[in-house]
Amino acid sequence: MRTTSRYRAAVRMIAAIGVVSLAAACAGNGGATDGATGGTAGGGYPDKNITIIVPFSAGGPTDTVTRMIAEPMAAKLGTKIVVQNVEGAGGTVGAGEVAQADPDGYTVLMHHIGMSTAPALYQNLGYKPLESFETVGLVTEVPMTIVARKDFEPKTLQELVAHVKANAGKVTLANAGLGAASHLCGLLFQTAAGVKLQEVPYEGTGPALTDLVGGQVDFMCDQTTNTSGQISAGEVKAYAVTTPERVKSLPDLPTTTEAGLPGLQVSVWHGLYVPKGTPQDVVQKLTEALKTALADQKVIDQMAKLGTAPVPAEDATPQAHRAKLEEQLGTWAKVIADAGVKAS
Ligand code: ASP
Repeated sequence: MRTTSRYRAAVRMIAAIGVVSLAAACAGNGGATDGATGGTAGGGYPDKNITIIVPFSAGGPTDTVTRMIAEPMAAKLGTKIVVQNVEGAGGTVGAGEVAQADPDGYTVLMHHIGMSTAPALYQNLGYKPLESFETVGLVTEVPMTIVARKDFEPKTLQELVAHVKANAGKVTLANAGLGAASHLCGLLFQTAAGVKLQEVPYEGTGPALTDLVGGQVDFMCDQTTNTSGQISAGEVKAYAVTTPERVKSLPDLPTTTEAGLPGLQVSVWHGLYVPKGTPQDVVQKLTEALKTALADQKVIDQMAKLGTAPVPAEDATPQAHRAKLEEQLGTWAKVIADAGVKAS
């Protein structure tokens, strides 16, 4: 299995920078402060811009979710939030950069399920998920869809399985690099279908979807936060959603169970991280800002349109996030060991 070179990715890394919000709350704006007092390390925090690093391409699903919450978080914190895409190697380049950043709360990482898969896939990761970061809180859990270029022959999921089995050497499967959600879902698809396909890694599923619409690759598995628009517009062919229930925003799309592949179940949890050693009162301010963003009606509506929702408030906490990460590290280590996959 090929993967994007970490070295090449590292030199290409700063791909897109966007200032998300100038929504500085005025001092004294009711409820905008959290009561942290002087004398603690984060007492004056924040007094400059915060950067959220997205470890995948601009315009992809993780970028989309980050930009949704950045604005209300910035308003709550009374500062600007800059979203920066540091892509490469299934999200490990961006995560590695945040692990090395100053633990002062000004460099934050948005990452997803890939935080729990990378240790089983990469030998020289340069960070340890549980030791290199403080968890801030979970954000959302996103269903995935199996989508193909619109002129791809198979019409149903079962036809897709039959087609890829018969054409295993020819069919191309796009993903966002080893350990990305699309890679995992593709792995589960290949396991469920009993086939080994040619994979085409990108630095995010934003560009992968562009190529799928353009017909350069055959199919992929990707989050509804990226695929919903193109599915609704008929720009890609959709076979199934990978959750037990159908997604409200795509009511005609069957679940994998309905479509005949019940073993293919995955959804993509996201969380915010800061480097290990970040003062607890700073983490707490970020958690409060995250909770505020997730309760924002605009965010709820935007997520609903894309087939997802904010996590319940009790999961937007460092404790719930850490527990999820611990559980997922164990789950994926086993799946990946069974599949025998490693970075080259
Ligand atoms: N989250 C990735 C992205 O934003 C896609 C993936 O993990 O498959 O591009």
